[in-house]
Formats: sequence, C-alpha cells, structure tokens
Amino acid sequence: MSNIYTQKEIASLREGGKRLARILSLLAERSVPGVSTAELDVYAEELIRAGGDIPSFKDYAPVWGGPAYPAALCASVNKEVVHGVPRADRILEEGDIIGLDLGLTHDGLVSDSAITVAVGEISAETQRLMDVTKEATYAGIKAAVAGARVGDIGHAIEDVVKEAGFYVMEDLGGHGVGHHVHEAPVIPNFGTPGKGPLLHEGQVLAIEVMTGAGTGNGRTLKDKFTYVTKDGSMSAHFEHTIVVTDTGGEVLTK
Ligand code: MG
Ligand code: MG
Repeated sequence: MSNIYTQKEIASLREGGKRLARILSLLAERSVPGVSTAELDVYAEELIRAGGDIPSFKDYAPVWGGPAYPAALCASVNKEVVHGVPRADRILEEGDIIGLDLGLTHDGLVSDSAITVAVGEISAETQRLMDVTKEATYAGIKAAVAGARVGDIGHAIEDVVKEAGFYVMEDLGGHGVGHHVHEAPVIPNFGTPGKGPLLHEGQVLAIEVMTGAGTGNGRTLKDKFTYVTKDGSMSAHFEHTIVVTDTGGEVLTK
C-alpha cells in the first residue's frame, strides 16, 4: 500500500489545493498577447510565496535523473506539451494556447495542477482539443474509486480522447503526489479495466491528461525539459490533485 494520507494531511492538501487553484486562475487572466512566459513565472512565484507557501517545482530534480527545474511554473505553448521553461523572449500571441502547470507546497505537502488557456481568440478545433482534454481529466477522476485499479483510470481517459479523434501522449501520465512531487503509482493515460495497482481510500493522486491533436508521440528539446509533439501539432494539458474515495476522486485543487 502506498501513499495513503491521514485526514489531517488531506485537510492541508485541500487548503493548498484551493490556494493553487486561485493562483492558476489569476495566471490565466494574465495570459494575454504580449506577455512573456517569464513574466507569468515571476507572478506565479510571487503569489505562492505571498501565501507563505513554496513553489514545489523550483529546483526539483526528478528521482529518475535529469537536471533540476529552474522555475516555479511550467509554461507550455501550442506544440509544447509539458515542462516548457519560462523565457523572457517567449511572448504570447493571439491564437496561442498555453498550458500552465504549477506545484505548491503547503504545510509540507505538494499539490499539483494544470490548466490550458486560450490567448485571445483561438480556432474552433483547438478549443475542441482543450475541451476534450478537460473532459478526459474528469473521466479519469471519476474512475479513481477505492477498490478500482490504475488501468480503470487510464482506460476512462483514453476512451474520451480517442472517441474525439485525438491522442493521449504515450510517454506521459499521472502519478501519486503529496509528500513528494512524484510518488507511486505511475498512471498511464491508457489501460485495461481491472488491471494495474489497486486504488485505496486516502491515496492522493495527480490525474493529468496530456493530448496531441495529431499524434501521441513526442520528444524532449535540447533544453532538456520542454517536451513537444513529434509532428508539431497542438497539445493541451489539464491536471488535478485528488484523493481517492469510495465514490471516485475528490478534487483537492479547486
Ligand atoms: Mg503538474
Ligand atoms: Mg503532475
């Protein structure tokens, strides 16, 4: 049994998650043409620290290796799927979409959440990609029932994305979260119902869906962080930290 949290810890995660959701909505309002992703990162860190909390991603080095992340925010624009490093020369333009992925440590516990937002007017097809990705995230959350298995979550997510004619990014998925940014289990966004690790009440998970409009394959750029769709097609990302209950996932990052 891994990462089962106490009621007291879940209460702290609920408070941290609430703060994180508010900060993401403020960042969404700032995501307009002419703003750089570096400005969004500075704003994100200011907002987190103003609440006495810690940006969980800053200087975080994943246990599986690789360099430490240099910013508070992951800001991934258009074909960038995840881990877009904020830059002063990355200026948002009308028609872009930006994935805002942020971790906040409150009372020593990590919440992780992401939203994708439109910069000005976007195309109907890009809006559909965003809508489907969000819908798939909620389908995964609903499937996070105590007694179900990790494969049930992945299956629910992939079903929604496939049905809409889009792709889940095969190399990326959800994960346990709370004491650390990444904990077991790994949650692929595809799977077979009834297969994979058992889900337990009180388990805290980051359910996150990363989609590609034209492919489920991607690659990491030379900066060693930014992960893009292999064909350059648009990508969207939604994520919530949840706690597993016997009626499905309770969203903590709201
Ligand atoms: Mg995240
Ligand atoms: Mg995550």
